[in-house]
Amino acid sequence: MTNQEPAVHVQMMPEFQKDSVRIKNPQRVEEIICGLIKGGAAKLQIITDFDMTLSRFSYQGRRCPTCHNVIDNCRLVTDECQKKLLQLKEKYYSIEVDPDLTVEQKYPFMVEWYTKSHGLLVEQGIPRDKLREIVAESDVMLKEGYQNFFDKLKQHKIPVFIFSAGIGDVLEEVIRQAGVYHPNVKVVSNFMDFDENGVLKGFKGELIHVFNKHDGALKNTEYFNQLKDNSNIILLGDSQGDLRMADGVANVENILKIGYLNDRVDELLEKYMDSYDIVLVKEESLELANSILQKIL
Ligand code: C5P
Ligand code: MG
Repeated sequence: MTNQEPAVHVQMMPEFQKDSVRIKNPQRVEEIICGLIKGGAAKLQIITDFDMTLSRFSYQGRRCPTCHNVIDNCRLVTDECQKKLLQLKEKYYSIEVDPDLTVEQKYPFMVEWYTKSHGLLVEQGIPRDKLREIVAESDVMLKEGYQNFFDKLKQHKIPVFIFSAGIGDVLEEVIRQAGVYHPNVKVVSNFMDFDENGVLKGFKGELIHVFNKHDGALKNTEYFNQLKDNSNIILLGDSQGDLRMADGVANVENILKIGYLNDRVDELLEKYMDSYDIVLVKEESLELANSILQKIL
């Protein structure tokens, strides 16, 4: 490192001292953060997952809903259908986080889960004009520090790409109601398709599921090409599939991958530490990311 380059010592940052923070190679993390600081606002972009990354996995000991669960649990869905959706979730979520299966093995099961659950939701005839109410009445919560996170990124006009295998309409409503859907935020997700009466009839475009984000990323090269100079990336995710979210970026100089590990921690920790630069174990805040942004911006 030359003298001009900013030195970062993560041991001196209190946000890095929490038990939840696990880093395999601290020196490498410091180098990446130095690169991010050097590039400043002009070179930075954020690529982030939504469910269980920007939104909370749990609050006061209770599991928080994903975008899908916001709809699954709403009062417009019949008890019988809720039961079926829950059964699907129990079966397929266990597969999603199974430490003994590879991404390739999980992939077809995810397609099966989305196909079945989307089919059930369509049968319920959800009206578009109820979405605002459904989200307002749900238990979905953003992680602590979200305001600071989004406001700082807005203030410095940093592009934020939210890439979610959830439901786009719900996601947008969540961040709108939280007051953080700023113009620098772009959402790519599964968007609902409504008939002429505004009733859910399906989902638009190709399905994005937990493990095909690589393909989705490559479909968004137009977005990333407009950001050719934004070669420094902070990637936030909670799944192994999220590691592929930046695959569409043409020119990567520095990328810092921050991974939330929420479930099956003991069995998955090593894998997460091997693939994410920083792993946050059962962490419900964005303060570590905020502390890094504070240094860059
Ligand atoms: O935003 P993100 O890409 O994390 O959204 C995907 C999440 O949605 C997955 O982690 C999965 O557990 C969840 N999901 C769900 N119900 C479905 C399909 C996916 O809760 N029917
Ligand atoms: Mg997620």
